[in-house]
Amino acid sequence: MASLEHLSAVHATLLVGILLECFAALGWLLAAALLPSMRRATAHWAGFALLQGMAFFLYLNSGRWPDFPVHAIDNMLFVAAFVLQVRGLYLLMGHRPPDKVFLAVLSLSGLAQWMWVAHEQSAWRMATSSLVAGTLCVWTAVTLLRCIREESPHAPRLLGPMLSAPSVIGSTLLALRAVVVMLEPERVIQSDRLDQSIGMLGALSWLFLSLSMALALVGLVLYKLQRKLSQAATHDALTKLPNRRAADDFMAHEALRAQRYGTPLSALMVDIDFFKKVNDQHGHAAGDHVLQTLAGLLKDRARATDLVARWGGEEFLVLLPDTSLAGAQRMGEQMRLAVLGTPFRWQQTAVPITVSIGAATWSSGPFRANALVASADKALYQAKTSGRNRVCLADNCAPLAADDNAAEIQGDCIH
Ligand code: GH3
Ligand code: MG
Ligand code: MG
Repeated sequence: MASLEHLSAVHATLLVGILLECFAALGWLLAAALLPSMRRATAHWAGFALLQGMAFFLYLNSGRWPDFPVHAIDNMLFVAAFVLQVRGLYLLMGHRPPDKVFLAVLSLSGLAQWMWVAHEQSAWRMATSSLVAGTLCVWTAVTLLRCIREESPHAPRLLGPMLSAPSVIGSTLLALRAVVVMLEPERVIQSDRLDQSIGMLGALSWLFLSLSMALALVGLVLYKLQRKLSQAATHDALTKLPNRRAADDFMAHEALRAQRYGTPLSALMVDIDFFKKVNDQHGHAAGDHVLQTLAGLLKDRARATDLVARWGGEEFLVLLPDTSLAGAQRMGEQMRLAVLGTPFRWQQTAVPITVSIGAATWSSGPFRANALVASADKALYQAKTSGRNRVCLADNCAPLAADDNAAEIQGDCIH
């Protein structure tokens, strides 16, 4: 390496590159320590930065070891770094990485570097590593888009293209590099890449690429964290249903629509009968299992536009937009019968479960969410006091909803 006063622009760029890659690797290692759910992916990206830093280091010192195949090793580090990057993306998505393909890519490009290790064949060597790395960049771009899509179909539309842009630019630059070196192999062979303007351009674009790709990965991790936080704030951990806060937001939004279009908005308060006994007789884990099964059951019965939320301990609130009190009663009956007809089990033991349901509707006048929920609650109380395992309507508790009218009610299904 040249002494400091003789440091060329290419040398300086490579030195900055090494420093930045070391920082990036440290950053990813820190992320691996702090984010257990993304540990394997972030550790891979620490490896990506480290290999890139090592490749910069070898490139910078290539003049020092004339008898050593520095450029061939450099190219291999470059390709291996990209493999780590894509593999990390697979791990982040929770998919099995295609390791056989990765192994084949590494072996074939290693073979190419070894075959064309002589200086006179540097054009072939560079072209192969550029093409392989360029293909891995395209793979990265596609996998990044897939990551965003799998994370949320409602992700901002530009997020995927923005995060994959550095990889797309990278693949274009690498393809161009492959074409240029094959068109002018003599220039490549005769040049001292560390002192040429072409060397400067190469070092700068290399640095830009690896850092912008790292930034895209940071963006992806931040998006995943933001999604996790918002999921935790609005969903119940046990049943994965929306929680009370999410139900309040949904109700406020649907109330505005109902008022605007003059449609009714109904609510069902569903409560498990004698649930304390389930916990006492079968244990808390059995109770949790019942809550999870019931959550799935209610969700299956609800329509896509309804919301089933966990309101409290063993109480669920079902919000039914554009549904009259009679419609809510039918939906409540369907849900009650579905629970009655489901054989709940815990460790081979039957756990009979029934629910009581209170239904209420808002259809005119100023909307008050508290009043709607209070009415449904009051109807639920009536269902409890009049014998449980039934649906009661606000201010009008229907007598025992006998199982013998099930067929009629199911015939009225409004799914
Ligand atoms: P009722 O028919 O009048 O509703 O009687 P109940 O026993 O269902 O109602 P009660 O309010 O007396 O008991 C509710 C029980 O729900 C008490 C509480 O331990 C249990 N519970 C609340 N949340 C959870 C939970 O997340 N998991 C489990 N396993 N139990 C819970
Ligand atoms: Mg209960
Ligand atoms: Mg209760």
